[in-house]
Amino acid sequence: MGRTHTIEIPVSGMDCGECAAHVRRAVEELPGVESVRVLLGAGKAVVRLDPARVSPAAVRRAIEAAGYSAPTRPPAAEGALHRPFLTALGVVFGIVLFAVAAGEWLGLFDRFTARVPWPVGAAIALGAGYPVFRNVVRAALRRRITAHTLMTLGVVAALAVGEWATALVLVFFIRLGDYVERFTTDRARSAIRDLTAMAPQMARLERDGREVEIPVEGVRVGEIVVVRPGERIPVDGEVVAGTATVDQAAITGEAMPAEVGPGSKVFAATIATLGSLRIRATHVGSDSTFGRVIRLVEEAEAHKAEVHRTADRFAAYYLPVVAAIGGLTLLVRRDPLAMAAVFAVACSCSFALATPIAMLASIGAAARRGVLVKGGRYLEALARADVVLVDKTGTLTTGRPRITEVLAMNGASPDDVLALAASAERDSEHPLARAVRHAAQHRGLASLPVEAFEALPGAGVRARVDGHLVAVGSERIVPEPDAAARTQLRDGQTPLYVVRDGKLIGVLAASDSVRDDAVGAIRALQATGIRTIELLTGDNEASAATVADAVGIPYRANLLPADKLAVVGEYQAAGHTVVMVGDGVNDAPALARADVGIALGAAGHDVAIEAAHVALLRDDWHLVPALFEIARRTMGVVRLNIGFTTLYNLVGISLAALGYLPPIFAAAAQSLPDIGILANSSRLLRQGRSAAHPAGRAAGGTRPRST
Ligand code: ADP
Ligand code: MG
Repeated sequence: MGRTHTIEIPVSGMDCGECAAHVRRAVEELPGVESVRVLLGAGKAVVRLDPARVSPAAVRRAIEAAGYSAPTRPPAAEGALHRPFLTALGVVFGIVLFAVAAGEWLGLFDRFTARVPWPVGAAIALGAGYPVFRNVVRAALRRRITAHTLMTLGVVAALAVGEWATALVLVFFIRLGDYVERFTTDRARSAIRDLTAMAPQMARLERDGREVEIPVEGVRVGEIVVVRPGERIPVDGEVVAGTATVDQAAITGEAMPAEVGPGSKVFAATIATLGSLRIRATHVGSDSTFGRVIRLVEEAEAHKAEVHRTADRFAAYYLPVVAAIGGLTLLVRRDPLAMAAVFAVACSCSFALATPIAMLASIGAAARRGVLVKGGRYLEALARADVVLVDKTGTLTTGRPRITEVLAMNGASPDDVLALAASAERDSEHPLARAVRHAAQHRGLASLPVEAFEALPGAGVRARVDGHLVAVGSERIVPEPDAAARTQLRDGQTPLYVVRDGKLIGVLAASDSVRDDAVGAIRALQATGIRTIELLTGDNEASAATVADAVGIPYRANLLPADKLAVVGEYQAAGHTVVMVGDGVNDAPALARADVGIALGAAGHDVAIEAAHVALLRDDWHLVPALFEIARRTMGVVRLNIGFTTLYNLVGISLAALGYLPPIFAAAAQSLPDIGILANSSRLLRQGRSAAHPAGRAAGGTRPRST
C-alpha cells in the first residue's frame, strides 16, 4: 500500500448510531480505504485512504449510494440548530396540537380534531414526518429496524384507526427527540469545539527576505515563522531568535507561562506574550502536538468500541423485544393504539446515547485540561482499575538526574571516563544520558567522534567512540561482574558503569530526587482504594528501594522492558485491571500492554502521545488521581443514565401495554429520558475545573484564552 492520508467528508442524513454504522460499512468496503470512523455528532466521516487507489469522490459516491448525502462543503443550514424560525414554528404547533389532543383525551373539550377531515390530517402527519419515514424505509430496504421504525409503525397504526392527531403528535415527538439528541451531542462536543477553536489559522513567514502571511497548512518544515507579542504560535518548532513568555494553556491546560529563548521548543496553539519570536518549524498542522491532540480526541469520540457497539447492541436486542411486546399487545388487546403507545414510549435513543454522551463530555472536558484520553473504554477501565504500576526514572523521580561522582579505574582518568561516556550517550533520549552529557559539558570536555550507536533498552547504550568499543549502563553491560560489585556507591545512587573495549574503566554516580507531587498523588490513589501500587524499574535494588521507600510502595528492581511487560501480564492474568504510569518514552511497550497506559509530561513527545492510552500533556502527578476521579464520575453518570432509562422504559412499556398510557402521552414521555441524560451528562462538562487541579492552582484563567 502506498502513502495513506486522512480526509474528512461531511455526511448528512444520519439520525442515529445505526446510520453511522451503516455509513462506516459502506465506505469500509471500498478498496484502498484503510480505516473509517464516522462521527455522528460532528456529522462527518474521517477516512484514511490510499489516494492512489481511491478518490474522495468515490468515497462520496459510496456514501450517497448508501442513502446519505455527502456534500462537498458542510451544509450551512442543517438541522434545527441552524433553522431557528422553522423549528420554533414546529415546536409551537406541536405543543398546541399536543395540548388539544391531550385536552380531548381528558374530556376537557369536544372533538376539535374530528372536524378536520382525516385525509388532510394524515397528509400533514406524513409530510411532517417525511425525513423520518424516508430513513425508516431506507433502513428497511437494508433489512434493518431502527428506533424510528417502531415509531413509524405507531404512526401507521394511529392513522389506520383514524386518529390523525395522535399520529401527528407522535411525529412531533419523534422529531423533537431527534433535535434534543442532536443538541445533546452538540453540547457534549462543546469542550472539543472549544479546543479546536484554538487551532492557529495563519502564520507569518519569512520567505525570500520578505514577511508573508499564509494559511498554516502552507508552512513547510524548516521554514522560519515570525510570531509577535500576543499572537498564537502557528507551528511546533525551535526558537531561533528572540525571547518571550509563552502561555501554554492550549497544550497543557495550565496558564502557567513558560520563558522561552533561542533553542527552546515551542508548541503550536500556545500564545507568545511579552516578546517576539522567530521559530524554525519542526511540525506543522496535524503533525504538531496540538494537531495530534485534536485528532486523537476526535478519534476517541468516534471510538467504535462505544458508539457503534452500543448502537448495534441496542438495535439487535432491545428493538426486537419491543417489537414483540407491541405485537403481543395488539394480539391480546386488539388495540392498535396500545401498540402505538408501546412503540412510542420505548423508542427513544436514550440507550444508545447513555454511554457515549457521558464519555464525550468527559473526554472533551479532560482534553481542555491537558489530559488526553483516547477513548471511553479507558475511562471504563480506569474506573475499575485495582493495580497501578509505576515506572521510576522520570516518572517517580524528577527525570533530571545529576552526575555527582566520577570514579576512574584501570588506568583511565575521570575526564576520559566522562568524555567517552558522554559521547556514547550523544544520541540517547534517556534522562541519564542527558545527565552524563550535561556533566561532560560542565567540565568543558570536547565530544569525540561516534559511530554505530545502539541503545540497549533497560540496560544502557553501546557505541564506537574514537575507535573504542564503549558501553555505558547498568551492571548488565559489565563483562566482569565482580569488578562491578567491588565499586561502592552511596545508597540510592544509580551507578552507570563505563566499559571500554571490554574493560571496566569507571563508574558515574547519578542521583535523582523523588518528585514531591508523586508522593502526594500516590497517597491520594491509595486513599481512593487502590490497594496494589508498585514500582517497576530497570535500576538497581538500592536506588529502587530508596525511591520506593520515600513514596511508601513496594518495588521490583533490575527489570528489563520485557520483564515489565511480564509483570503487567501477570496481574492481568490474575484478573486485575492494570494501570501503568510512565514517561512514555522508554516504557512504551508496558504502557501499551496495560489496560490503561498513562504517559506523564507527554507534550512534545510524539512517541509518548502515540503509545499511551492517556497522555498527560503536563508533567504533573496530581493529574493522575484527578484522572481516576474523572473516570469514576463518568462511569457513575453512565450507570445513572442507563439505570434511569431502563427503569423509565420498563414502567412506560408496562403502562402502555396495559392501556394506561395513551400514545400521545407515551410519545411525550419518550423524550424525557433524553433530556435527563443531557442534564446528567452536562455535569461532566464542568468537571475538572476543580478536580484536575489541586487546591491553590485552580485559580482563574486556567481555561485557555481564545484570541
Ligand atoms: P526505569 O525502569 O527506572 O525507567 P530504565 O529501564 O530506563 O529505567 O533503565 C534501567 C537502567 O538501565 C538504568 O537505571 C540505567 O542503569 C540503565 N540505563 C538505561 N538507559 C541508559 C542510558 N542511556 N545510559 C546509561 N544507563 C542507562
Ligand atoms: Mg523509564
